[in-house]
Amino acid sequence: MSADTYEWRAAPCSECADPAARLVPGDSDRADILLCTRCPAYGRLAYRDPADVRAVLPSGVVLAMRDGVLHLGVPAAPDVSAYTRSVVALVTERGFLPVWRSSARRHHVTLTAPGPDGAWGWMEVGARSGRILRAVVYPHGRGAPGIGAAGPRAVRQLVARLSDFGPFPGPGAAEGESAAPR
Ligand SMILES: [Zn+2]
Repeated sequence: MSADTYEWRAAPCSECADPAARLVPGDSDRADILLCTRCPAYGRLAYRDPADVRAVLPSGVVLAMRDGVLHLGVPAAPDVSAYTRSVVALVTERGFLPVWRSSARRHHVTLTAPGPDGAWGWMEVGARSGRILRAVVYPHGRGAPGIGAAGPRAVRQLVARLSDFGPFPGPGAAEGESAAPR
């Protein structure tokens, strides 16, 4: 795969999950230690191990230093319907990183939000139609119940509701919203 089949964006910091965070080379002699530009604002250790960054990223993502900032490259989206593109744009606005894995029959999109206990989900898109088939989102991370939807409109509604829980739930938010019976 050549480099231009990837879309590049600044790598998120999984510790502070601040959208403004940038991971830059640390000022130590070790080039492999990264410095988060936002972590100190949250009273957190600024230094990040690249392995920590790697650990929360879905497979298929590549990392590269560009203009002195750690960037991640995600496989470019395949040819899909405009409606599907709009749903993926919406999910990106909600703070998720969509990672496409294309195949002849069905495209699979992994959705990951940065941060500890970050939201997670996936979406399936018909390769021929370019239409969304179904999706499941786990607003409170992999350990909590997921919410599923089938068909383009239901999936769009599910994604639109994501602002209700938010990809970066604050303390206590996880208990209140997930009306799961215990
Ligand atoms: Zn940070």
